[in-house]
Amino acid sequence: MPRYDYRCRACGDTFELSRPMARANDPAECPRGHDDTVKLLSTVAVGGVATQPPGGGGGGCCGGGCCGGG
Ligand SMILES: [Zn+2]
Repeated sequence: MPRYDYRCRACGDTFELSRPMARANDPAECPRGHDDTVKLLSTVAVGGVATQPPGGGGGGCCGGGCCGGG
């Protein structure tokens, strides 16, 4: 059963409920008993940080003399 995030506008708390998709848009009640809640967009992102290839160090340009001039 999918889980949905909701935010209570009364107390500003966020909570999540497990409910069928058919009832995803039904009004949810916050754990404190408020019913003034809004449904948040669920994020299904996994990771997301682009990994940079191991680089740096071992440069041969300035070490070889191509930029040393002379
Ligand atoms: Zn509340």
